[in-house]
Amino acid sequence: MKVKHIDHIGIAVKAIEQAGKFYTNILGLKIHDIETVSDQKVNVAFIPITDSEVELLESTEPDGPVAKFIDSKGEGVQHIAFRVENIEEALKELKEKGVRLIDQTPRKGAGGAMIAFIHPKETNGVLVELCQRD
Ligand code: ZN
Repeated sequence: MKVKHIDHIGIAVKAIEQAGKFYTNILGLKIHDIETVSDQKVNVAFIPITDSEVELLESTEPDGPVAKFIDSKGEGVQHIAFRVENIEEALKELKEKGVRLIDQTPRKGAGGAMIAFIHPKETNGVLVELCQRD
């Protein structure tokens, strides 16, 4: 598998409008777009930084995964995404190596990417996402 670079860092926030101010007003970055991913019950704000992005994740429902994350751990880094060249191949290789996966097959994520999560028990508690963009 070829891991190219950190694609994005997902940060769980209560409100994009409030949390985004640090990145825009203080750091001088720009929110490129905000997208709703309905099946994840989340709004995602994309803040590009060269080859990577900060993604602010705001739950749209009280029972969404991001809301549950904030309930148990508070706001903060929720996952790290590595860009891979071929996500199908990467998942196949991980399965062959006996790595536990949350997603057995790639699914559609924010920004038109194909994504899959590795089980955090395999990564010392870090939720790692693999991500392919064409
Ligand atoms: Zn992500």
